[in-house]
Amino acid sequence: MKLIKKLPYFPWRLFWRFSGIVFFILHFCNLATLVLASYIFDFSLGDGSVRLWMNIFLLASLPASMLVGLQFAAPLRRVILKALRIASKKQMAQAIGAEMIDETDESLFQSEPGSFYELDEALNRIYKKLKKRRTQLAHEREESQVLMSALSDAVVSIDLNEQMVFSNSQFVTDFMSREQMSGEETVRISEIIKDNDVIEMFQIAREAGEVCRRTRRLNTLMDGVRDFSITVSPLREQRTREIYGVMGVFHDITEIKQAEKIRIEFVENASHELRTPLTSVKGFLATLKEDLEAGRMEQVPMFMSILTRSVDRLTELVSDMMTLSSLEQHSPLNLELLDPQRVTQDVLERLTPQAADKKILLTSAVNVPPFRADQARVEQVLVNLVSNAIKYIHPEGRVDVVWEKDQQYGASGAVVLRVRDNGPGIASEHQPRIFERFYRVDRARSREVGGTGLGLAIVKHIVVSHGGQVGVRSELGKGAEFFCQFPMNN
Ligand code: ADP
Repeated sequence: MKLIKKLPYFPWRLFWRFSGIVFFILHFCNLATLVLASYIFDFSLGDGSVRLWMNIFLLASLPASMLVGLQFAAPLRRVILKALRIASKKQMAQAIGAEMIDETDESLFQSEPGSFYELDEALNRIYKKLKKRRTQLAHEREESQVLMSALSDAVVSIDLNEQMVFSNSQFVTDFMSREQMSGEETVRISEIIKDNDVIEMFQIAREAGEVCRRTRRLNTLMDGVRDFSITVSPLREQRTREIYGVMGVFHDITEIKQAEKIRIEFVENASHELRTPLTSVKGFLATLKEDLEAGRMEQVPMFMSILTRSVDRLTELVSDMMTLSSLEQHSPLNLELLDPQRVTQDVLERLTPQAADKKILLTSAVNVPPFRADQARVEQVLVNLVSNAIKYIHPEGRVDVVWEKDQQYGASGAVVLRVRDNGPGIASEHQPRIFERFYRVDRARSREVGGTGLGLAIVKHIVVSHGGQVGVRSELGKGAEFFCQFPMNN
């Protein structure tokens, strides 16, 4: 667009003013010269030839003064347009009578020697500086917007009237209703967060200029009640240090709190589990010592077998806890091509003595090709599931291990391991919690059969670390089926 080249704009007011002044000066000089000449050369101003001369001069001075006016106004046209363009694009568009101006057209700001060269150059420099600053500001704004929207913390800032000035997308998602978002009016922070403690934090930061930190439970619009660690800080003018607003950062600590709760529960459960066999060991050792000192040997074999069982239980518990802890440290999987047929055979062979004790039939059907997985961990999954089935089902029951392809899984495919038994099954109310650590349907029964309460938690951890899922299907009295899905694209 070459709008600037064929500008319809001309500073007519300036032109007429210059021309008027020049015309007046010329006319005044002409009159003064004539008056002076009439005295010196003694002629009358009323003479016809003098009046004719005056009229000719008057007529001639009109275009002359307009020419001088043009000389002044024409170079100023460019300077004025430049100033308008720097002030606002809208004003310049108005001046030239255009709808809008071409932002890319910079021809106006090229150096051109002229009567107002210095002024022209100064405006060029101002324009360049402003342009650079504007680009810088746009970049800074873009960067802070990207940063704020990428931030998982909710951020809000308010002015001294408690009106919201800025909020990032997380704050909007967590706390702002549709009406508050779309409303024309600015919203007060107290209308968004209805928690007196949080509002008080904003007041303290605003009035006392102090940074305020607290942990609060707040209702969020999408995820219900969440725990937040909130920091509210005053915003100060850089030069005067005067407070002009307050900024609040809401850091969601729900997961951290939950992890902390799980950890505390785990320690409590673990110490409880350890205490039981330890108490038994301590008690029987004392009795054994007394019996040995008194020379009573009849009960020693029984005490020894109880002690052995308790120590076995302790060993098993500690070993399961260590397995779980190593899994939780996200130690990398040792992926290799695993042959499910061979792994199943190995595990079933290992568990055959236990199954034989209860006359339990173990069967297997492998209908999947080898796939990539951590062999030792998949073996652990199989051992835990099959030994659970052996532990909990009645004598002469059966346990079937089936490997099959998962038809519903995406293009890459998945294999599913199913461990089915015809035991007592698991009531539906227990099924959602069965994979939790130390969760047992029947605590006493689990202890009696030597369970630690960690077997299924370990299974879940291993399968999830392979990118898969676990689940259970069971009906009370009709057996249970545990399934583990392993994606094939590992
Ligand atoms: P445990 O060491 O107690 O067996 P697990 O985590 O392996 O712990 O299992 C949790 C609970 O799930 C068990 O205590 C038991 O009540 C129940 N359970 C697991 N497998 C079976 C099964 N095959 N049949 C019935 N109940 C089972």
